[in-house]
Amino acid sequence: MSHHRSESLWERALQVIPGGVNSPVRAMGSVGLTPPFMRSGRGCRIEDVDGNRYIDYVGSWGPLIMGHAHPEIVEAVAKAAQKGTSFGAPTEAEVLLAEDLVKKVPSLEKVRLVSSGTEATMSALRLARGYTKRDLIIKFDGCYHGHSDALLVSAGSGLATLGLPSCPGVPQAMAGCTLSLPYNDLEAVERTFQAKPEQIAAVILEPVAGNMGVVEPADGYLKGLRGLCDQYGAVLIFDEVITGFRVALGGAQERFGVTPDLTTLGKIIGGGLPMGAYGGKAEIMDRVAPAGDVYQAGTLSGNPLATAAGLKALELLSVPGVYEQLYDASARLYQGLGKLFNERGLPHYGQWCGALFTFFFQEGPVRDWTSAAKSDTELFARWYRAMLGRGIYLAPSQFEATFVSLAHTDEDIDHTLAAASEALKEL
Ligand SMILES: *Cc1c(COP(=O)(O)O)cnc(C)c1O
Repeated sequence: MSHHRSESLWERALQVIPGGVNSPVRAMGSVGLTPPFMRSGRGCRIEDVDGNRYIDYVGSWGPLIMGHAHPEIVEAVAKAAQKGTSFGAPTEAEVLLAEDLVKKVPSLEKVRLVSSGTEATMSALRLARGYTKRDLIIKFDGCYHGHSDALLVSAGSGLATLGLPSCPGVPQAMAGCTLSLPYNDLEAVERTFQAKPEQIAAVILEPVAGNMGVVEPADGYLKGLRGLCDQYGAVLIFDEVITGFRVALGGAQERFGVTPDLTTLGKIIGGGLPMGAYGGKAEIMDRVAPAGDVYQAGTLSGNPLATAAGLKALELLSVPGVYEQLYDASARLYQGLGKLFNERGLPHYGQWCGALFTFFFQEGPVRDWTSAAKSDTELFARWYRAMLGRGIYLAPSQFEATFVSLAHTDEDIDHTLAAASEALKEL
């Protein structure tokens, strides 16, 4: 594979863009590479600027559950563009999308569209605080909720437990309002509620963690959080930006049968265009301006191109049998890789939930950030490079998910497994 053009673009990017990328996870530093620059995609295949082709298991980090450039989504966007790309006034498509989301996601009675997952979680927190008249929030180590100040207090760092900012630029006063606890540890949440019974506005979590690698909620964990939030009058927020429309049509809340007060969405609901949403109980959502007093706004919110793409994606996902097909494809890859790792005697611990999985390079079990962090990231980096060199484009970090889409055929997956078999000989 030649990477001449990518390397030249990389040099230029470094001159004018911090770290060469517009979002840090794209940089590939942790696997010892500079990233290939992409120029086109179709279905599950992408091509870089040097003409190298890859089978893509990143899918833009989740949104592309229908694959790249799905003809019906492209057509919907093109049609919308011809009628005007933004009005800053209400449009029919916003109503249609909100109705569709309310119909499909169990906790949603009302929903507000925004332009990213970060905006959705940030706004949901403000709303929860306004609604409860409390300041503190509980989040969990290793869960990512976008880059707003309150939510960057995070993973696995000693600073986090002290409530110190783990990111320069986040004021101490802000970080002090965020309590970060270990995932899957219900007792830690209970103790915190007991210590501060009337101060906690919200508990926010990924109902299936996807940003420390995939970690499933332990039996009874989500239900237990529901109970504690009810008992102490806190708002339970499921951040379903990854899991929404991926682990089930109605998200993790449908799959696990636990209904949060508020839900945040993003990624898939924009069909590959910038989109997020937050919604939930009407009683809470009616506090959002202009119905209520909690302000939140957006010049491009409910944008016609994004709503057109989102509506079409959700329509395509509503076809009966689609999720069975998705899970079959994902299971074929997951099981196939597990078998190859076994044959090779490679320590690994897999977690799979619908069209989302991670193999941690360690014996396991992995149930929180502390255990996830024990993985062999050096081995992962070698695995990553061996796969990329064979045209398999995975997320360049041990702590990310593998995103299977409806565009991955059995043939694509068997091709991937053959590449993996070869790659493993190199490790
Ligand atoms: C990606 C992600 C976000 C942030 O969404 P952006 O659109 O990148 O701002 C929030 N929460 C979760 C769970 C995510 O995976």
